Amino acid sequence: ASLFGHVEPAPKDPILGVTEAFLADPSPEKVNVGVGAYRDDNGQPVVLECVREAERRIAGNLNMEYLPMGGSIKMIEESLKLAYGEESDFIKDKRIAAVQALSGTGACRLFADFQKRFLPDSQIYIPTPTWSNHHNIWRDAQVPQNTFTYYHPESRGLDFSGLMNDIKNAPDGSFFLLHACAHNPTGVDPTEEQWREISHQFKVKKHFPFFDMAYQGFASGDPERDAKAIRIFLEDGHQIGCAQSYAKNMGLYGQRAGCLSILCEDEMQAVAVKSQLQQIARPMYSNPPVHGALVVSIILNDPELKSLWLKEVKGMADRIIGMRKALKENLEKLGSPLSWEHVTNQIGMFCYSGMTPEQVDRLTNEYHIYMTRNGRISMAGVTTGNVSYLANAIHDVTK
Ligand code: PLP
Repeated sequence: ASLFGHVEPAPKDPILGVTEAFLADPSPEKVNVGVGAYRDDNGQPVVLECVREAERRIAGNLNMEYLPMGGSIKMIEESLKLAYGEESDFIKDKRIAAVQALSGTGACRLFADFQKRFLPDSQIYIPTPTWSNHHNIWRDAQVPQNTFTYYHPESRGLDFSGLMNDIKNAPDGSFFLLHACAHNPTGVDPTEEQWREISHQFKVKKHFPFFDMAYQGFASGDPERDAKAIRIFLEDGHQIGCAQSYAKNMGLYGQRAGCLSILCEDEMQAVAVKSQLQQIARPMYSNPPVHGALVVSIILNDPELKSLWLKEVKGMADRIIGMRKALKENLEKLGSPLSWEHVTNQIGMFCYSGMTPEQVDRLTNEYHIYMTRNGRISMAGVTTGNVSYLANAIHDVTK
């Protein structure tokens, strides 16, 4: 028998599998609204102009030395200003332990491993539903998982009372994973007032919030506004954890640029925590990649490039918001008796359409429209050119 004879093929990733099927379809009408990557109105991938300019400045100017184990100090500094606020006292007081991470996924994984190592009896509460990889990340870090109520299927909005009950009923001092903005896959975020209530209840229960912020700027078009939930928790005096990603908001997907930060009691604790995060990273990948980090720090450190970035990230968010409107209007024009209010109420890259797996199968089989079977539409794949085709197909399978 061969050494690896017992190895069965792994189940397909529900998200990446959609792209494979899309690529294999020869139909000229095919539409990919599965993948979570931004596309322009012609359905093409986008490299931001601010990124191109940063790359021009880097070109030929850079040696290929290793970054420090914790990553680029400058990139971390800029990332913390973005998440915690330009004038944050926590930054001035050096209370934040932070390391550059392999984008948002790597930041989550590093935190999960840290949680396992230093709080071995803790669990993580994850919203239902969530980005499917969250389950894999904490599973592989061997942190037991629990779920909390989040989505309300009937209203296709937030189940706020269910959410608050689950927060109250969790044992004191529990770890919760929160999407800072543009919840994936539902596109449903709490309002500011609801965030304040959630923060208050966390305080009462001494829970620890870990924010996964994969879409800062991508939700509303304004990174400051998208950081509101985090800022509310900071004002209320919580210690928090935060995973940042530049995949979506700078379009740096494959560069794997991100940051993990943990707000500590004081500087001494932050130094200790940072040193342990580095110790976890060292045997896994030693140190993070340099190019994306440099692009990020150049853009955020240069007022002109930063304002170009703000303009470009708003452009991406606005195009998506526009496509939400167009999709809803097209469905209404076709005479759909169903309510499509949630298409425009939801925010960020995804629309949780409420379509059943069977309806999604019909979209794929009859219309060559590719998306995950949970009914999640990536709004980034919707364009002026395909929105009416998409609306027509959705209307047909839901009527
Ligand atoms: N977290 C959420 C909620 C996401 O939707 C994503 C990407 O789809 C990520 C994290 C991580 O993405 P990346 O590792 O590319 O930064």
